[in-house]
Amino acid sequence: MTEDEGSIRAELRRWIDANWDPELSLVQWRGRLADAGWACPAWPTGWCGRSLPPGVGESLAGELEQAGVPGPAEGVGRGLAAPVLLSHGSEELRRRFIRPTVTGEITWCQLFSEPGAGSDLAGLGTRAERDGELWRVTGQKVWSTGAATADYGLLLARTDASVPKHRGITCFVLPMRQAGVEVRPLRQMNGHASFNEVFLDQAEVPADQVIGDPGGGWTVALAILAHERRLQASRPAPAPAGATGRAWREALAERTAAAEPHKWYPQRAGRPDLVIARAVAEGKARDPVVRQEIARLMELTYTARWTAARAAAARAAGRPPGPEGSLGKLASSAIARQAARVHSLIAGASGMLTGSGAPLGGTIAEILVSVPAISIAGGTDEIQRTIIGERILGLPREPDPSRDLPFRDVPRGG
Ligand SMILES: Cc1cc2nc3c(=O)[nH]c(=O)nc-3n(C[C@H](O)[C@H](O)[C@H](O)COP(=O)(O)OP(=O)(O)OC[C@H]3O[C@@H](n4cnc5c(N)ncnc54)[C@H](O)[C@@H]3O)c2cc1C
Repeated sequence: MTEDEGSIRAELRRWIDANWDPELSLVQWRGRLADAGWACPAWPTGWCGRSLPPGVGESLAGELEQAGVPGPAEGVGRGLAAPVLLSHGSEELRRRFIRPTVTGEITWCQLFSEPGAGSDLAGLGTRAERDGELWRVTGQKVWSTGAATADYGLLLARTDASVPKHRGITCFVLPMRQAGVEVRPLRQMNGHASFNEVFLDQAEVPADQVIGDPGGGWTVALAILAHERRLQASRPAPAPAGATGRAWREALAERTAAAEPHKWYPQRAGRPDLVIARAVAEGKARDPVVRQEIARLMELTYTARWTAARAAAARAAGRPPGPEGSLGKLASSAIARQAARVHSLIAGASGMLTGSGAPLGGTIAEILVSVPAISIAGGTDEIQRTIIGERILGLPREPDPSRDLPFRDVPRGG
């Protein structure tokens, strides 16, 4: 810790001592954090932040934790929507949405993927047409995590089909609670239902709720995806022992509700933390094959940690999110798959069992059916490899015959 960082931490501690009152509502407490700039210290002054370097800002989150006070709201809102409003949103959009996102008064989901457009996101077909002071949106989204409870959606829709696909897309702030939006939950193979289909039928978006310029949505989408690759499956620190008072009661209730779609996320990461204890408990710790596979898992885990540390240092130096997000994402897929492999070796056929008699009460089975998700969500492994090939290694671009055609002439539906 530098001397400067030490004095910033001390200032935050003094501020918490003077301002924390457990009987405030959660929104009131987060409002104080936001207005003092301690909610998101790396964000600009006046926008819930203090314009501190990103590395310092991130480490101050730990200070809130140590002081035993709730932090700002977590999730798609603070992780994706607010940062992109800061970088690409109008002053008016920032004013309306950033503070209530940080205080948790409003929640968000991401409406990008469609049945025919996931990896080829720029091929999306949901249309938005201007109608006076509104845009009217018609189409279908899918895989939309948390859409069943979100207040707003970060929506990509096509506003001009006469230009090539990357140029006719616009990014909108879509109000989710309206007649033109129907959300239907989907059941996954691990039994959870965190994704939804979202059907849009003449859904209305006020004309001023465009992020960036109409037709400029691809640039905005890339900024959101870069944040997404960096965003850890953020899990807030546990509440301190003896957390009492209104603010904590509301924070714990919010966490329980917000955690619902994500409660299988630790399992999709493969639970490498369980591996050694499981090998010992099942008498496999001396099995040379199991040992070798555990060693490989540790090797992947440590190298990924060092890559993440390099990325954190880059952020602290003020560099924007870059291709290291793709490296980290690929690494987490490799770790999850390897951990699932080791769990299978240890558990054998019993790893397929669920219920109370199953290994770890069914957690091993949940790991095995949840791990595939990590190499799909936020861009598949193959797409990350293309990004690394093109942007880091400088290989020629992947051929795409539809890239320069007007979107309306691109063959679709095959
Ligand atoms: C846990 C989870 C949460 C998600 N949450 C959201 C969300 O909140 N909002 C949202 O909008 N989306 C969300 N998604 C969707 C996710 O972004 C897409 O699933 C992903 O981008 C892949 O798109 P797709 O499913 O259409 O697969 P496809 O694009 O159809 O890909 C199918 C297969 O083909 C391969 N492939 C495709 N194109 C290429 C290529 N050019 N080169 C090599 N291989 C290729 C892919 O790698 C993949 O293996 C989520 C997904 C998961 C698993």
